Amino acid sequence: MNLVFLGPPGSGKGTQAVRLAKNKGIVHLSTGDLLREAVKNGTELGKKADGYMKAGDLVPDSLIVGLIEDKIAAGDLKSGFILDGFPRTVPQAESLNEMLQKNEITLEKAVLIAVSDNEIVQRLSGRWFCPTCQVTYNYPANVPKNEGVCDHDGAKLVRRPDDEEKVVRNRLEVYKKQTQPIEDFYRNESILAEVKGEQTPDNVFKSILEVVG
Ligand code: ADP
Ligand code: ADP
Repeated sequence: MNLVFLGPPGSGKGTQAVRLAKNKGIVHLSTGDLLREAVKNGTELGKKADGYMKAGDLVPDSLIVGLIEDKIAAGDLKSGFILDGFPRTVPQAESLNEMLQKNEITLEKAVLIAVSDNEIVQRLSGRWFCPTCQVTYNYPANVPKNEGVCDHDGAKLVRRPDDEEKVVRNRLEVYKKQTQPIEDFYRNESILAEVKGEQTPDNVFKSILEVVG
């Protein structure tokens, strides 16, 4: 099963991708996670990406397409995948199609998780995550059992610097201008499937299972 997850920041792509990847035994690839790791490790890629990410802008297509190309070349996506946060521009979607065709891989569905702007600002101001296992929590929707620490490994939860309201507003604008046109791109290819993101995480998951089969 080969899928792309689309949706504005905070729509629940990461939450659902982790769950579906486990359920189907496929790889979850988050370009946001890869970039945050690169920034943390101070790699060349991280140094180039840091400023864009802090401002809530997209990093240049060339940097990100290279990342995905490496993953495909290494065979990491052979047994099925969910791309979370990629593609984010029409040129990225076109590049992905070319890379997949070259490697005889078919994209089955682009799953769009639809959520309103107000809900997004609210969710992201309450987002905390585990820096060790990447699991995401939310105040007040999904709180950890013990205040401020991860249920799975006890690590101290942290926030993302780009979840500050001003940066979130810019990320929403960027989504509308640069990423939303991809919805039409996949609609034209007849593989776009939309699910309602403003339901409980369990019900969003059920809706996703229904559309991916
Ligand atoms: P979100 O939770 O907003 O969906 P991500 O974790 O996917 O955010 O991405 C965080 C940041 O990383 C983005 O704001 C952007 O700067 C950068 N980024 C991630 N994926 C891409 C991509 N495919 N193209 C360009 N920039 C990206
Ligand atoms: P994305 O990867 O699209 O940026 P996340 O999966 O990180 O989104 O979710 C953003 C925030 O919203 C997190 O704090 C997460 O716990 C919370 N969240 C995810 N799904 C739901 C939902 N269905 N209802 C309420 N909150 C949610």
